[in-house]
Amino acid sequence: MNKIRRLPNNLINQIAAGEVIERPSSALKELLENSLDAHATEIEINLIDGGKSIIEVIDNGKGMQLEDLKLCLERHATSKIINQDLSNIQSLGFRGEALPSIGSIADISIETKEENSQEAWKISIFNKEKQKLEPSNIRIGTKVEIRDIFYKVPARLKFLKSNGTETRYCREVIKHLAMSHPNVSFILTVDTKNIFNWRGNKQINFESTKYRLSQVMGDEFSNSSVTVNKEKIGCRLLGMVGIPTLNRNTGREQYLFVNNRPVKDRSLLGALRVAYKGLIEHSRFSVAVLFIEINPLDVDVNVHPAKAEVRFKDAAKIRSLIINGVREALDNAGLKTAQEISNKMFDKIETTSLNLNNDKEFNSNQLNNISLLPGANVKTPNIVELNHSKSFPLGAAIAQAHETYIIAETNNGIILIDQHAAHERIVLEKIRSGYLNDNIEKQILLIPEIVKLSSEHFSVIIKHLKSLLKIGLVIEEFDLNTVIVREHPAILNKVKFEELIKDIAEEILEFGNEFVLSERLDNICGNMACHSSIRAGRNLKASEMNALLREMENTPNSSQCNHGRPTFIKLSLKDIENLFGRT
Ligand code: ADP
Ligand code: MG
Repeated sequence: MNKIRRLPNNLINQIAAGEVIERPSSALKELLENSLDAHATEIEINLIDGGKSIIEVIDNGKGMQLEDLKLCLERHATSKIINQDLSNIQSLGFRGEALPSIGSIADISIETKEENSQEAWKISIFNKEKQKLEPSNIRIGTKVEIRDIFYKVPARLKFLKSNGTETRYCREVIKHLAMSHPNVSFILTVDTKNIFNWRGNKQINFESTKYRLSQVMGDEFSNSSVTVNKEKIGCRLLGMVGIPTLNRNTGREQYLFVNNRPVKDRSLLGALRVAYKGLIEHSRFSVAVLFIEINPLDVDVNVHPAKAEVRFKDAAKIRSLIINGVREALDNAGLKTAQEISNKMFDKIETTSLNLNNDKEFNSNQLNNISLLPGANVKTPNIVELNHSKSFPLGAAIAQAHETYIIAETNNGIILIDQHAAHERIVLEKIRSGYLNDNIEKQILLIPEIVKLSSEHFSVIIKHLKSLLKIGLVIEEFDLNTVIVREHPAILNKVKFEELIKDIAEEILEFGNEFVLSERLDNICGNMACHSSIRAGRNLKASEMNALLREMENTPNSSQCNHGRPTFIKLSLKDIENLFGRT
């Protein structure tokens, strides 16, 4: 007797559900995608108990006629594959698996009215049994309700998180789809409480996308992000990315879309990381929403059951589109500082001043501290120069405090500059552009420096001498595991070569030949800047300070240092007047 059996349909569906439906939010995703594929412009979502008890989606899409309704719960039944062609998929769904999969692990009912039909119908699965068709009184579109998900799949049920966490996953799903469909209204209620009502915008253009992003991502993102817009033959990148000072400790707020389909693609997220190299710290993540548009024939969406991954014909092209597009946008953003940071500082000042008034411990000692400003170094540049410099974006330097901060006056405010952070950024950008244009200015060391390395470090350094030359480091083999440094980039001074060369060797060991790619370059330059820049604590002359400010204005990305901290903070006169209650 043979041993291979055909699996019963119900089991097949449960296996498929195992792939597609991991938790309530994945079921919700499938329902929302169906509503969007049905061209709904308004979608209402109701969740009870994080979606564990009820997930309800009501749309005003084109609905289904009776014959389609009968079929939609069948496996591999779909209206979305035309001419049996998988290579040109433009809908979000196409696998014809979601509804039957859900029906195998939950009770489900679907009510629908086809747009040109007079009648509405309801179909349902209860306890894994398909129920009789019934008439429905729904007036438009489709309403799907999923009840008690996984109630017969204890293994899955066990792994669900708290209602609050499952609700958050569901909100993430809605967020994703809302961002890519700004023309659709999304209304969410959780346990009968209204959570949000994001109105759609009839016009489909980037302005409505921006508006939707402000609804979904909030004001902080809107105020501290820049537009990305870059095209290459056959593909286009559009979106908003946070300036580097807006960063997070996870990548949760990095949203990528390929032809409006939300994707989590490791290599694309890697490209985004590269774009921010040297602008934010290793362990931090940028905030970004990026839409990639590409000819559907150049991308395969059928590589992942939940459709979260895609495969490009030319992945390198898409990666470089992201790296260059995002980098350009950040470079062009110039001197924009994170609004958020200035605001936070502003809040701090306000509370401090309140504390001063209320604080009984406040004593004359503190008062002395405030009025004397130790280390303050007041400059009196001549009046003509002062007035001239004030019209520059970063204004005229009028004082240095604590040998660390420059205070500058502009026509309408005051700017505080962290001189070390600013200098570090300038060095990095100089070396980077010197490398890219092959014109780095070098300085010969009067006394060449001998650096002893481990044999591992020694051999990688020796292997990459040519690349190091391109970034302005002239290094030669000297002795066993020893190199000699003869020249260095002119912009650096007081370089700690031993530390620098070890860091570079580590970088190459970790990333191999990629070191020569411009993607890795920022890191190397960052290392150089770090091991040389003037630290805080140097007395600067007025002319030196003004030169630094002018240089910052001409340096891309100069509003933050290599670690993503701001290099300066701006207080407008209005802010200051507010502080003193003058308005
Ligand atoms: P797929 O979306 O991959 O086609 P599904 O199982 O999700 O597979 O849905 C099966 C079919 O049911 C869809 O192809 C579509 O024709 C129909 N359908 C599902 N939901 C809706 C809806 N909200 N509005 C209109 N038609 C729907
Ligand atoms: Mg579907």
